[in-house]
Amino acid sequence: MQNVNSSPLASIVSRDFIRTRAILARAVTPRYPTRELTQLTASHVDMRAQLSPSRAMLVTCTTRPDATSSRACVHASSSLSSRHANARQQQRWAHRSRIVCRDADGASAPTDAAPLNGKSVVIIGAGPAGALTSIHLASLGYEVDVYERRGASNKVETSARTYNVVLNGRGLDALDAGGIVLDDELCVHVSGGVRHGVKSGAVFSSQSFSRAVSVNRAVLAATIAREASEKYGDRIRFHFNRSLVGVNFNTQTAVFEKFEGEDVCPFLSEDESLFEEKTYDLLVGADGVRSRVRAEIVQDSQGSFVVKQVTDGMKYKSVMLPKLAGAPRGMENDWSRAFHTWRRGQTSVLAPPNPDGTHSAVVILPESGEWTWDKIEAPQQVDRLFATKFPDAFSGNLPSKTSSMLAKQKASPGGTTTTVSSMVYKDNVLLIGDAAHSCWPSLGQGANVALETTHALRVTLEEMGDEDLPKALKTFDKLRKPQVDAAARLSQGGFGGSMNRTIGGVLMARMVFISILHTVLPTVFHRPALFEISNTAYSYDEVEKMMKRESFSFCASLIFGAVTFWYLVFQNPAMRRSLGALVHRFVSAAIGAA
Ligand SMILES: Cc1cc2nc3c(=O)[nH]c(=O)nc-3n(C[C@H](O)[C@H](O)[C@H](O)COP(=O)(O)OP(=O)(O)OC[C@H]3O[C@@H](n4cnc5c(N)ncnc54)[C@H](O)[C@@H]3O)c2cc1C
Repeated sequence: MQNVNSSPLASIVSRDFIRTRAILARAVTPRYPTRELTQLTASHVDMRAQLSPSRAMLVTCTTRPDATSSRACVHASSSLSSRHANARQQQRWAHRSRIVCRDADGASAPTDAAPLNGKSVVIIGAGPAGALTSIHLASLGYEVDVYERRGASNKVETSARTYNVVLNGRGLDALDAGGIVLDDELCVHVSGGVRHGVKSGAVFSSQSFSRAVSVNRAVLAATIAREASEKYGDRIRFHFNRSLVGVNFNTQTAVFEKFEGEDVCPFLSEDESLFEEKTYDLLVGADGVRSRVRAEIVQDSQGSFVVKQVTDGMKYKSVMLPKLAGAPRGMENDWSRAFHTWRRGQTSVLAPPNPDGTHSAVVILPESGEWTWDKIEAPQQVDRLFATKFPDAFSGNLPSKTSSMLAKQKASPGGTTTTVSSMVYKDNVLLIGDAAHSCWPSLGQGANVALETTHALRVTLEEMGDEDLPKALKTFDKLRKPQVDAAARLSQGGFGGSMNRTIGGVLMARMVFISILHTVLPTVFHRPALFEISNTAYSYDEVEKMMKRESFSFCASLIFGAVTFWYLVFQNPAMRRSLGALVHRFVSAAIGAA
């Protein structure tokens, strides 16, 4: 073996090793105990530099608390400085656990994909969850066929009917683990939130947006799918315009129709069958909140598989807003990258940012009440809605293109929480993403939970191997289900509010109270659980436990306060007399004034 110290790379390695530690220290320290950083030794770097001297060096940096091995890929070349041009990119590389070493010309290739294991997987749905699952499984040696009922989108582009999702650390870490980098032209780092109030005006706050990225949902899914095809073209095949119409669980066969709604696929000749079949060793249902795979399971299980869904009673339409004016001087950049919200009770407009400075808005109305989408058919009615409810948006003059787009679009159902009795069925069928565990959009976690789940699956399969797949899937279900169920409960419990993202009065009072306690006694009281929902240091069930402790502290303090007040005022004659005098003086003054 070549001695690394005599290799031409040796000096770069040692120089960049110091840089690597600095990057990791910044990116990793908040999440991992400092002690673990000592595991990063020069020998890790040197060893990998020997193995892959021309392309990159690999640093095993730490072990996640859930036993996921995390690694950082750092270029042993001059491109390091440009690659790590800013802190965000450094963080991405440092958090990346799937190694994708890019060489100088930018081409990519997986360096540590497992050899093919002879098992075939059929994934239904090429949304964020399905597409990312395909990458994870292909890298572990599975052959994957992904079936999607929509058409192929070669171009990554936004359409009026899609919406943006805000990804936090959970989703971003999972993407990193799949080797997905969202380029700056596809996504935008959210600078903060701007709350627009009719009386209070616009208020900017950067709190709770520390590591948030806004990206169009369709763009996200297409980007992951494109990366999947590019990196694992020999193992992953995407089949578009194929809608799952049935599953035979005994013969392990999925049946697809080559239709999408009214549109017959252009490549379908007259004598060609409208149906197609595919057998599987593992079937993954990643087909969203109205999952067909789930429906097939329910039918097949004859009542033993239970699904619970709760809707939030809202309907929304999405629309691209022109650039928003009104930024305070010097804040133009933050303003264009902020998540803007106009909340008027159950009616609200939520507008996360796009990379080009525009905003993708969802306009949310309740299913019943004075303003509902069912009653709005013409652009003038949209104008009236905005003039009445959102007079501060666009100074009451909604651009005519926006109102006509909103008028003609069909409203989509709002949020649905989904919980299932098990994410695994018959040892070889798995539900993942919204199909298994959707949340109300008000929680802002659906895509984050979905992506995190795909990563959790990969970790379990990696740890347990592919020989006993049913056992591995059972273990995955046991470990992951408590987390996704907790996310759904947090959503329904008013965490993040109802669909309109307003938080209930009691929850708000509790949050303020806990914030005060935390400020006064930071070692005793944790900051409000709501702020930790996107924090990868806490799992969803830990956040839920935190929330329960908060409720207990809040209720206990209220009871203590009431008892103390009652004792001081009503059990103490002196206090009672002074309170009586105070009330008497107040009433006399009021009568006198009248
Ligand atoms: C208005 C709104 C705002 C949101 N904001 C956020 C946010 O800020 N942050 C966040 O984390 N989450 C957010 N979400 C939630 C997020 O969009 C979802 O949780 C996420 O898209 C789930 O991904 P998925 O891949 O599981 O399902 P989906 O994205 O629904 O993808 C499922 C795919 O399966 C396909 N499919 C369905 N049926 C079939 C079939 N029979 N055959 C073949 N293919 C099929 C569909 O065409 C689709 O492509 C929001 C949701 C909404 C509605």
